[in-house]
Amino acid sequence: MKYILYCRKSTEDKGRQVLSLDSQINEMRKIADNLGLKIEREFRESKSAKMPDNRPLFSEMITYIQKNKKESYGVLCWKIDRLSRNPIDSATVQWLLQQGKIKVIQTADRQYLPSDNVLLFNVESSMANQYILDLSKNVKRGIIAKLEQGGFPNFAPVGYINDKANKTIVIDKERDRYIRKAFEMYASSNHSLKDITNTLYDEGFRSRGGNKIHKSKIHYLLSNPIYCGIIEKDGKKYIGNHKPIISKKLFDDVQKVAQLATRPKTKKLYFMYRGVLKCSKCGCAMTASKKKGKHIYYYCTNGKGKCNEHKVYLKEEKASEEMAKAFKEVKFDERLINLCYKAKMEELEANDDYLTQAQDNLKKQLEAVSKRKNALLDLFIDGKIEKDIYDNKNNLLNNEEVEIKKELSELKSKIGNKGKETLERIKEVFLYPVNKEKTFLEIKDEKKEEVIKALLWNAQFENQKIAHFSFKEPYNILSKVSNKSDFSQLLRDRDSNPD
Ligand SMILES: [Zn+2]
Repeated sequence: MKYILYCRKSTEDKGRQVLSLDSQINEMRKIADNLGLKIEREFRESKSAKMPDNRPLFSEMITYIQKNKKESYGVLCWKIDRLSRNPIDSATVQWLLQQGKIKVIQTADRQYLPSDNVLLFNVESSMANQYILDLSKNVKRGIIAKLEQGGFPNFAPVGYINDKANKTIVIDKERDRYIRKAFEMYASSNHSLKDITNTLYDEGFRSRGGNKIHKSKIHYLLSNPIYCGIIEKDGKKYIGNHKPIISKKLFDDVQKVAQLATRPKTKKLYFMYRGVLKCSKCGCAMTASKKKGKHIYYYCTNGKGKCNEHKVYLKEEKASEEMAKAFKEVKFDERLINLCYKAKMEELEANDDYLTQAQDNLKKQLEAVSKRKNALLDLFIDGKIEKDIYDNKNNLLNNEEVEIKKELSELKSKIGNKGKETLERIKEVFLYPVNKEKTFLEIKDEKKEEVIKALLWNAQFENQKIAHFSFKEPYNILSKVSNKSDFSQLLRDRDSNPD
């Protein structure tokens, strides 16, 4: 059997108990010599094994082993963590072991065979994985420590330059005045972002690569407190030890102006009957506009291009009067209204029951997840499972929890009285004693809109007069029943439309 020697040392291994590449090779050659093993190829890698796909020579070695179909190999390496420090590479090596492509892994102090020691290899590479996790935690800790000391751990933002020797940032003398100007212009609230971007460009503001600094970048830098000496990272603020370019006051002023700018300036015009009114002649929807800044008029959009109605303008007040008349003309029977009301209410309640049950089920699921989390934690505390398994599983359970909670909150907004309140109000409008026409005209516009939209699919107008309207459920039944007190007819209609 032929052997392949793989050695690895990355810059991250500096200062740790890892032999240099040359020493690793010498040591392993000696061992091979003692055991009488023949080395066919040597791979010397100076890369980290933290991430998969990071080591060209490791990949080359794997390809080399796989390609040679007739041969199986032994692998020589100083320590098992030289071979793999991430789960993907571990799996690759393990697969080759199981396939018999690698017959043995020989390290300085032990032998790994496919049969008996695979498990050991697993454990040791999972230790290597833990080492990587710790390392990245240390890197994060390092960044936070640096922030707490007032240092800036990233690439300096425009207006500053990294001072690598002192591990801080210093003012970029060529660009700081543009930054100051951007803040001052914006704080004056007389300039748009586009304005500021173009002015600065005209005055020579360029990126370090010599390019125009885009509007979005200006927008971003105006919200970055680093320019007044505050470093913000992951929502936490630190006092930087770098020199600020602007005052805290100017920065705050800019934030205030920015807040005002995001407030909507013009209210969208509100037309309560838009979507309801139709032209009776051509069937097109009627649209509205405000004339002379006061009255709202509806008119045919003339979508088919040949309607003469579109020259007729219908005043909103007139439309209301017409629709109120329509209510008056339809003689609603009180008992019928009550029956319809009851039917609709039952439907709403049945739906609520269903939703409440769904809610109960979700709450039970949430409890179950919580119990599973506790059980998992107990296992971990008792040392029955490893940290990474615990983290993994706990994360899955957390995600499940979040999803259930989201579903619950969505359900909550569906259960409730909104539908019932509307129904109640509609009933009131219809049952209001004596003058229904008057009632409709007296309620507020928002309520008028609500009542109309709950009652009617549409109302067709011709020459400023209502010509036809179609009711929604359950009121359509009323218009269908010829004799409006004919209950048997009504109930037949109801039974044939159970939903
Ligand atoms: Zn028309």
